[in-house]
Amino acid sequence: MPAAVSSHPKLDSGVTKFTNCLLVKNNSLVQEDLWINTHTGKIIKGQEVFYGQRVAPNRIIDLGGRILSPGLIDVQLNGAYSFDFSVIPQDGVVGYAKGVRKINKDLVRTGVTSYLPTITSQKPEVYQKALPFLGPSGSSRDPSFGSESLGAHVEGPFISPSKNGIHNASVLRTAPNGLSDLESCYGAQNLTTPSPIKLITLAPELPGALNCIEELTTMGVTVSIGHSEASYEEASAATIAGAKMITHLFNAMRPLHHRNPGIFGLLGTPPSISGPPKPFFGIISDGIHLHPTSIKIAWNAHPDGLILVTDAMRLAGMPDGTYDWTNGSRIVKKGPLLTLEENGKIAGSSISLIECVSNFLNWTGASVPEALKAVTETPARMVGLEGVKGCLREGADADLVVLDLKEGKEGLKSFVVEQVWKFGGKVFEKGNANGRDEGEVGK
Ligand SMILES: [Zn+2]
Repeated sequence: MPAAVSSHPKLDSGVTKFTNCLLVKNNSLVQEDLWINTHTGKIIKGQEVFYGQRVAPNRIIDLGGRILSPGLIDVQLNGAYSFDFSVIPQDGVVGYAKGVRKINKDLVRTGVTSYLPTITSQKPEVYQKALPFLGPSGSSRDPSFGSESLGAHVEGPFISPSKNGIHNASVLRTAPNGLSDLESCYGAQNLTTPSPIKLITLAPELPGALNCIEELTTMGVTVSIGHSEASYEEASAATIAGAKMITHLFNAMRPLHHRNPGIFGLLGTPPSISGPPKPFFGIISDGIHLHPTSIKIAWNAHPDGLILVTDAMRLAGMPDGTYDWTNGSRIVKKGPLLTLEENGKIAGSSISLIECVSNFLNWTGASVPEALKAVTETPARMVGLEGVKGCLREGADADLVVLDLKEGKEGLKSFVVEQVWKFGGKVFEKGNANGRDEGEVGK
């Protein structure tokens, strides 16, 4: 320890050091300490603080050799814990706002420290009421608020009527007049900068869609291709117009055909200096939506673009049974499988994001850092928050997850979320009755 280092317990420097841990850095697990400042909620450069500013950590946390990962990011979450982002409750926007606050607190306990609340295809009034509550929510940097919205994901209603999945076909729209059609649906106030919308899933083959992609990209809203009949050529045109993402690859799109590789073909596009980069793509690794081999093929084709998403809806965590859904439909929940009662179509997922990571690890042979990258660094890059979220670099937000990796029978591995930290405050510890460490965030 250098001379004259301040370590007086009453002088709270806010500096916390994690030690005896494996940090997820790039494609490796590195045995290194991590330093954070609980006052700023950011990761700091330990050496500089200790030797340069002569500040000793207020607190040293020994993680007993466990993995310390950036907090997880889910870019497609329709709801959970009985709350649905696409439904305005009986008590209107007051109840909706309350529901959003509650889901943030519940969700963070699963290791998801930030996410994109997702609305499926709905009538305009739903978007116009809901979107003001779904924009980026981290400005107060208060750990006690739980998980943070990075902005809404609107999935539809500008999607193909023949690839609607469980979206209600009667609310689908086209945009022949370009952005003004989107404004009349989502509300013009929700498409002015700063917009509460971060990501829009649309079908690029619909009339007017390509113009919308260009305009949205200029505004800083990311466009994702999905629920679409697009040919490879139409999908390529969308990426040239600015689309950066594919929504739940393979699901709700044409399958790969050897003479028309469709949207999936974008993963095989050779890199070119003048052309757009290969898009990011969402993958639901719940064992229901996709065969494990399809996931492995997609990952091999474009490892840096793969983003694991849950596509989970409000029945996540609920007991098996039949539940009322929107528009008079009913959903049957059996284990993680959710189907529409009327036609047996897959109706979303009830899996947690960390379970998706465990599945991905077991099915693809990816390393631990490679699997975690698909829910941290890669989604952060997709939403334009590289260096802020999804990494353990100095200056990034101290959104952290402590993970244990268990190995069960037949060598199947599974991650267990042991601790969650948000903006430098501990918000969950496994085994605590209420899961919260009051000493950290109960201010
Ligand atoms: Zn979908």
